[in-house]
Amino acid sequence: MSHHMDWEEFRRNGYRMIDELIEYHTTIEDRPVLSRTQPGEVRSALPSEAPVEGESFDRIMEDVRNIVYPGLTHWQSPGFFAYFPANTSGPSILGELLSAGLGVQGMLWQTSPACTELEAHVLDWLVDMLGLPAVFRSDGPGGGVIQDSASSACLCALIAARHRMVQENDIRLPQLVAYCSEHAHSSVEKALRIAGIPAANLRKVPADDTYAMRADVFSATVTADISAGYVPFFVCATIGTTSSHAIDPVASITEVAAHHGLWVHVDAAMAGTAALCPEFRYIHDGLAGVDSYCFNPHKWMFTNFDCDCFYVSDRSALVRSLSILPEYLRNTASESGSVIDYRDWQVPLGRRFRALKLWFVIRHYGVSGLQFHIREHMRLARIFASELEKLPRFEIVAPHPLNLVCFRHTSGDETNRLLEQRIAEEGRYYLTHTLLDGAYVLRLSVGQTYTEERHIRSFIKDLVTIEAKLHSG
Ligand SMILES: *Cc1c(COP(=O)(O)O)cnc(C)c1O
Repeated sequence: MSHHMDWEEFRRNGYRMIDELIEYHTTIEDRPVLSRTQPGEVRSALPSEAPVEGESFDRIMEDVRNIVYPGLTHWQSPGFFAYFPANTSGPSILGELLSAGLGVQGMLWQTSPACTELEAHVLDWLVDMLGLPAVFRSDGPGGGVIQDSASSACLCALIAARHRMVQENDIRLPQLVAYCSEHAHSSVEKALRIAGIPAANLRKVPADDTYAMRADVFSATVTADISAGYVPFFVCATIGTTSSHAIDPVASITEVAAHHGLWVHVDAAMAGTAALCPEFRYIHDGLAGVDSYCFNPHKWMFTNFDCDCFYVSDRSALVRSLSILPEYLRNTASESGSVIDYRDWQVPLGRRFRALKLWFVIRHYGVSGLQFHIREHMRLARIFASELEKLPRFEIVAPHPLNLVCFRHTSGDETNRLLEQRIAEEGRYYLTHTLLDGAYVLRLSVGQTYTEERHIRSFIKDLVTIEAKLHSG
């Protein structure tokens, strides 16, 4: 029988683990970005039963290197241009380690006051850092909370909206209708399903030629739904859609929503970080009247997954929809009403000390350091776009105000599909696609912590070479 790891053994292995991570990150460019593992390959390398006797740390680490690493897609590679970034950084990794090491549970203020207060405080900092409405600050009627993901933020917003509408009126769930643009994230539909509202009651409002929601069509749809006996209750506007980074007209949407009593949730999961820089803060225009907002430091703010910052302008609406108080959770701090109990702001009861890594990141970089790196990513995306425009058979297909460039080869979907596949096979870079106006479009998303200009320039060269090979058969 193996004993607990004593603290001397922990010290030895702990230092080695840090060395291991340094080795991983400093050699990451030698690995194919997209994992080449076949389905089932990882599992077939693992024993079919758990070990009866404990094993040495060395043996475990050997399997990490031989079995786990080949099965990884390297999100932290500077050549990772796929989907969206899920970047991390030294201070984030260390903050996460500290959180695991302290092992606290922050479900109530009382179960670790620092866990709650640091979180509320850092989320207040971010209100100022991103130029968000002051009503989101925790010293007013609103407040912020860390959720695991933008999907959970959307779900909580939708549950609060449903509660507000159903509490106040005699309404059945199938009457409720929600709205988002045709380019909104699938998490809106998922939230609706979880909330017991038919998915058919989600109106996917058409977009204009910049792929942003048409507020006039939204308004007309709401009016038509009301005439048909439906009850509009929720709209999700997106700042930076996943496909193309389109920015919905939040102010116009909010105006329509306010007129009819809809809850407005704003999903800025990836793009929100841009507002750290004053010159990009315009993306948050029109947020003044919204009910909730979220963005993901775990995408583009050097904070490892999971960390979504979710804000509400009226925390009582959220808390009313999610709070229950069994006897075993009763305590005087909560009942005095003077503290935040974050369990009432989310689906699960328990919660990790996620604010630590965010606090570490903000303190390590400082506002100006974060601004510098975000501007650098924007600059790299602009370099890519301007180099691409010089290539004869490629075109840019959507506005690219931030760090995502959508482009395609002019000879059709099949060529673009092949390009995507060949780039991944070569292994140095990895990008993914979307559909815009029915066409197969490649997306270059810049946001990994260590992506530099040389990676962008060498990717352009690769693209040219791969394209030439495709054309020569
Ligand atoms: C990535 C993304 C999401 C989903 O984010 P999770 O945190 O993984 O749930 C939702 N909306 C937008 C706009 C995104 O870019």
